[in-house]
Amino acid sequence: MKSISLREPGHFVLNDTPLPPRLGQDEVQVRVRKVGICGTDLHAFTGTQPFFSYPRILGHELALEVIDIGSTQQSHNLHVGDLCCLRPYLNCGTCDACRRGFTNCCMNMQVFGVHRDGGMREVINVPIDKVHKSTVLTAESLALVEMLSIGCHAVERAQVKRDEVVLVVGVGPIGLGVAQFAALAGARVIVADVSDARCAFAWKDPAINYCIDAKQDVIEQLKSVVPDGLPTVVFDATGNAQSMMKSFQFVAHGGRLVFVGLFQGDVTFHDPDFHRRELSLFASRNATASDFDRVIAALEANKINVASWITDRVSPEQMVDAFPTWLAPESKTIKAMLSFDNV
Ligand SMILES: [Zn+2]
Ligand SMILES: [Zn+2]
Repeated sequence: MKSISLREPGHFVLNDTPLPPRLGQDEVQVRVRKVGICGTDLHAFTGTQPFFSYPRILGHELALEVIDIGSTQQSHNLHVGDLCCLRPYLNCGTCDACRRGFTNCCMNMQVFGVHRDGGMREVINVPIDKVHKSTVLTAESLALVEMLSIGCHAVERAQVKRDEVVLVVGVGPIGLGVAQFAALAGARVIVADVSDARCAFAWKDPAINYCIDAKQDVIEQLKSVVPDGLPTVVFDATGNAQSMMKSFQFVAHGGRLVFVGLFQGDVTFHDPDFHRRELSLFASRNATASDFDRVIAALEANKINVASWITDRVSPEQMVDAFPTWLAPESKTIKAMLSFDNV
């Protein structure tokens, strides 16, 4: 079967590799239909993600078709031919976090396609309890569910309420996802980004009320858009330390600040600013099974429409050359999608 391996930073190879071994207990064998490409994959390629080891088969945003179901005592609703997506967070099930139900932040977390080989290959075996199916959605929509679940989880963390003013800093795919679920919760959604291309895309999104140019003074622009006070919830989806540190200033007194993006280092803040406002600071990591179910239900009900987010479509043969172009600063790529379908 075809499989794409990142041999070392900057160097993908397309291989012919053996099919996976026989199904183990509680596993399903699936054909990989689509693979969404995300920031984590781009960092793996540039070698800027310290926890990556090489060679690695990337791919954790997956649309899958069931081809075989192994023996299992677990209740499931899967049939051969079903389309599904994968919740790629392989938690241990036994650590303190898992036992308390915090499976998304397991102490021994292994993410499929990050810490272990992932889905950039034609056939894989995956745990049956990590598979979410839809009889309605297309393969492309299913490949976007994982990414959207990150935003859904962040909005859940903040418990966004109707008529709240929400600011999302960083409007790449993750920030766009946060905006969708904040809007579904009834919030008025403002976004901010330094990229003109991303701002232009955000202005067209019906979930977004206003887009701030983060190259200019953000507070000044916020004052004109929300004259009666600052946003009560601010999400940072940049993973940029400077942006994360600045975001404390954008939150109303008594508000919540959610770090969706991750920075590999220290983030500091001025405690009197934090205290004076009595802020609540949240980290948001991965997503839970119920986040995945919520995303699938929202897509099935056409409450969010993300088809226009897919700007680039490639075959395995094309991806090796196309991948570096998605990193270019002038790139208009929002979401790139690798297809193992013969179309
Ligand atoms: Zn991702
Ligand atoms: Zn665990």
